[in-house]
Amino acid sequence: MLTRSDLSATEPDLAALLAARPALAMHVQDGLCFEDVPLNAIADAFGTPVWVYGAATIRARYADLQTAFSDAGLPVHIHYAVKANDHLAILSVLAKAGAGADVVSQGEFARAMAVGIPASGIVFSGVGKTRAELAAALSAGIGQINVESAEELAMLSEVATSLGRTARVALRMNPDVDAGTHAKITTGLAGNKFGISAPDILPLYAHAAALPGIAPVGIALHIGSQILSPAPYAAAYSKAASTVRALRQAGQQVSVLDLGGGLGIGYRDEPGISLAAFAQVVRREAGELGVQLLLEPGRYLVGPAGLLLASVILQKQTAQKRFLVLDAAMNDLLRPSLYDSYHGMLPVSAVDFVKPVSPTDVVGPVCESGDIFAAGRALPDLAENARLAVLDAGAYGAVMSSPYNARPRAAAVLLDGGHFHLITPRQRLDNLWADEILPGLR
Ligand SMILES: *Cc1c(COP(=O)(O)O)cnc(C)c1O
Repeated sequence: MLTRSDLSATEPDLAALLAARPALAMHVQDGLCFEDVPLNAIADAFGTPVWVYGAATIRARYADLQTAFSDAGLPVHIHYAVKANDHLAILSVLAKAGAGADVVSQGEFARAMAVGIPASGIVFSGVGKTRAELAAALSAGIGQINVESAEELAMLSEVATSLGRTARVALRMNPDVDAGTHAKITTGLAGNKFGISAPDILPLYAHAAALPGIAPVGIALHIGSQILSPAPYAAAYSKAASTVRALRQAGQQVSVLDLGGGLGIGYRDEPGISLAAFAQVVRREAGELGVQLLLEPGRYLVGPAGLLLASVILQKQTAQKRFLVLDAAMNDLLRPSLYDSYHGMLPVSAVDFVKPVSPTDVVGPVCESGDIFAAGRALPDLAENARLAVLDAGAYGAVMSSPYNARPRAAAVLLDGGHFHLITPRQRLDNLWADEILPGLR
């Protein structure tokens, strides 16, 4: 996982990892199953490494989030943060569940539109949107643009005016709150590149209201990712609510509060953030504002709904250590290398699952020392071709993958109702250079 203190936390054993994940089950014959589908069947059909996503898990998590808010008496619009996993099949599951989208690029906007999410249900976030991106979004009728600076606001006004459009704008506030998460995924501190400081919001909102092509509708904030405690949210939303009140006192119309995303999941065997506690915080801080509430969860909806299924290439014993070399690597799943993040790992075979364990460094074949999934992980001896599931890889997994070391893109499979569907074939080798142009050389 992500914080320094978490890194030293006691490691759950294999049984605890399994017990904490209701969508996973170990069968004596079939081995590890995800949403009742044996992972061996998927590896047999499509090879490894392969991403496996569970539609039922995504739907259940979406429903849990909605229920937490309806139980708290809060109507909320969920806009899935596409960057967590932008596969059309995943977007489609969420679109069918009723989600809107939160996008950070024209490409993500196009993906969301491609699965039928209406432009009016899409929010455009991000610290640097180009004029071309803004123009495309406005022309398509985007629902809301979250503006992060005075400079961007001026640019947006010009683009909207030239198109004869009016942009519905929320100003993204930087509440200067420490989300207590990893430095690379905290976004709500004054020193971060994101958002507008609270004191600057008031004059900028008034300025926005006077600008042609701009209709300010509210305030947005997003303080970081993988947040496990409601406390930083309480601090941030309290500041946002004060800002909303101050804006109204100054005669401004405020009808939207975009609460952002960042809801954390349990990567070990701990529970994720309590949805009920989170909804209560929203209710306490913003429940009386009479604004339309938006949420932008990414990881929470899809993280536990995906795993990366890999095979053992070989086990390597040095004088110091035992290394398990997988056929998956940092080019597939970058999070451990990028953020030191923890991903649980389970052997797929029921026999392997009950064998004695010893400390193992789990690595990929990429030529980087940073290509490591876990150091000193308690795992059994695994023979060549034994399969291992790298858990909770549905968010910020495949989207960050690259063809580094000329490794083809892994296949992906979606489970739905006990069936599995291939949603991305494994990339063919000649497809690796399909877009490259070989010039006529002297
Ligand atoms: C990344 C991001 C999100 C989603 O974050 P999660 O931690 O995946 O929930 C939401 N809103 C904005 C503006 C983001 O940049």
